[in-house]
Amino acid sequence: MSDSDDSNNPAEMQRTVARLHETFRSGLTRPLRWRRAQLDAMERMLRDHGVRLAEAVHEDFGKPVAETMLMEIKLVLDEIQFVRPRLSRWAARRPQPMPWLLWPARSWTVAEPKGVVLVISPWNYPVLLSLEPMVDAIAAGNCVCLKPSELSPATSRLLARLVPRYLDARAFAVVEGGAAETGALLEQPFDHIFYTGGGRVGRIVMEAAAKRLTPVTLELGGKSPVFVDGTDDLDVAARRIAWGRFVNAGQTCVAPDYVLTTPDIADDLARRIARAARFMFGDSASAPQSSSYARIISDRHYDRLMALLPHPDVPSSAAHVVCGGFGDRAQRYIAPTVLTHVSADAPVMREEIFGPILPVLEIADAASAVAFINARPKPLACYVFSRRAATRRLFERETSSGALGFDLPLGHLLSNRLPFGGVGASGMGSYHGHAGFLEFSHVKAVTAKPTFPDTLSLVYPPYTRRTRTL
Ligand code: NAD
Repeated sequence: MSDSDDSNNPAEMQRTVARLHETFRSGLTRPLRWRRAQLDAMERMLRDHGVRLAEAVHEDFGKPVAETMLMEIKLVLDEIQFVRPRLSRWAARRPQPMPWLLWPARSWTVAEPKGVVLVISPWNYPVLLSLEPMVDAIAAGNCVCLKPSELSPATSRLLARLVPRYLDARAFAVVEGGAAETGALLEQPFDHIFYTGGGRVGRIVMEAAAKRLTPVTLELGGKSPVFVDGTDDLDVAARRIAWGRFVNAGQTCVAPDYVLTTPDIADDLARRIARAARFMFGDSASAPQSSSYARIISDRHYDRLMALLPHPDVPSSAAHVVCGGFGDRAQRYIAPTVLTHVSADAPVMREEIFGPILPVLEIADAASAVAFINARPKPLACYVFSRRAATRRLFERETSSGALGFDLPLGHLLSNRLPFGGVGASGMGSYHGHAGFLEFSHVKAVTAKPTFPDTLSLVYPPYTRRTRTL
C-alpha cells in the first residue's frame, strides 16, 4: 500500500484498514513463529538499511547519522532482541488460583492480540518512535498501520518503502501524510491507537477514539524538571544535563526542560553546563558547522523557539544569557543556550521548550522544588542530582512524573526493562519490553469448572441461613 502514491486518499485508506482487519481475522498474526519471523525481518531491514534511515533523518533535520544509529536504530534492535526470546513466556497461559467457593475449578490468564493497531509517530525520533511501538505490537500478535510524521518526509518515505518490502505486507501498512490524512485515518476502525506527539493533537486523537471506544496510548510531552542541590559532583551533573538537553538539539520528549537549583550554586552550575555544551557541540560561534548537532525541524519551530529567548526590549524576559542565545534561520540552527535569572512566569517557562534552550531557576531548597513541580502539570520525567538519600526519597514519594531519574537524564528511555510512558498531562499507557507487549494485548481471564459434581449449587438461591456464613 505504502508504495502506491495514493495510499493516503481516503478510499484507499479505508481499503488498507479493511485489508488489515481481514488479515487479523484470518489468524495469520497469531502463531509465535510468524511474530518472530516479522521481528527477524525488521532486524534485517535495520541491518540492511539502518544507515540509509539515519541519512534520511539527517536529510530531514540535520540529526547526526551517528546519533540516529545510537539513539534510534540501536534501540529498536535492542528492543527486538529483548522481546524475541521472551515472547513465548509472555504469551503463555498463566495459571491463577481460584477462590475456594468455586472449587473444584481452574483459571488462568492469556494475552490475546488486540487486532489492528494504528501507530501515529512524530518527527523528532522518527525511526525509533515508529518502529519501537511496532515491535511491541508485532510481539503481541497485531496488524499495524503506521502513520509517520509529515515533518520528517525523507524518513517517512523510506519507511513507507522498506516496511512492506521486509515485513508481511498483508499485516502491515504505512500511510503517509499530515493532519488531514491522520484525521481521515482516525475515522477508520482500529482496535488500539498508539499516538506519540504533543498534547494538542493527543486530544484530537482521544476524541476520535472515544467515538468508537477505541483504547489509546498517548505518549505526550511536558516540562521535565531537574533539581540540583550541589551535593553531587557539579561537573558530572553539568555534563549529563547538557547532554540530555542538547542531544537532538533539545528536541527530545524526556529532555531536561528547566533546572531548579539553590542560589549559592546557580551561576556556577550554569557556567559548567555551558562549558560542557561547548565541549560537546563546539564553540557557539562555530557550532553551525558542528557535525554532532541537529537542526530545528521547521521554520515554524525555529521562530517559536527564537521568540522564547530573552529580548532586550521586553523587560519581563530579562534573563541572563550564559551561552548561546542566537540562531541562524537559513540553517534552522539555534545555539545551545543556557539562561539564568529566569523568572517562573517568563515565556520560556510557559510551555514545553522542545529545543536547545535551558533555563536555570533559583529555588530555596528541595521542599520548595517539590512544591514548584507539584504546582504544574505532571511531567514526562523528573531528574534529581543529589547525594542525599532523604532528598531522593522526598522526590520519589512527593512528586509524580512518567519517570524519575537520580543523577541520570534519559536513562529509562534506554532500558527495555522499564515501562516508558507519561502520567496525567504527559500521557497514558506505556510501552517497551513487557509493558509494550501488555499494552498491545488484552489479558483475558479464563475460568473452567467441572459440571459434576455441581458444587456451585452452594451459591444458588434460595438463600438459607448457611449462605450468609459462606
Ligand atoms: P508531530 O507534529 O510530528 O505530530 C505527531 C503526529 O501527529 C504526526 O504523525 C502528525 O502527522 C500528527 N498530527 C499533527 N497534527 C495533527 C492533527 N491536527 N490531527 C491529527 N494528527 C495530527 O509531532 P509534535 O506534536 O510536534 O511532537 C512534539 C511533541 O511530542 C512534544 O510535546 C514532545 O514532548 C512529544 N513527544 C513525546 C514523546 C513520548 O514518547 N512521550 C516522544 C516524542 C515526542
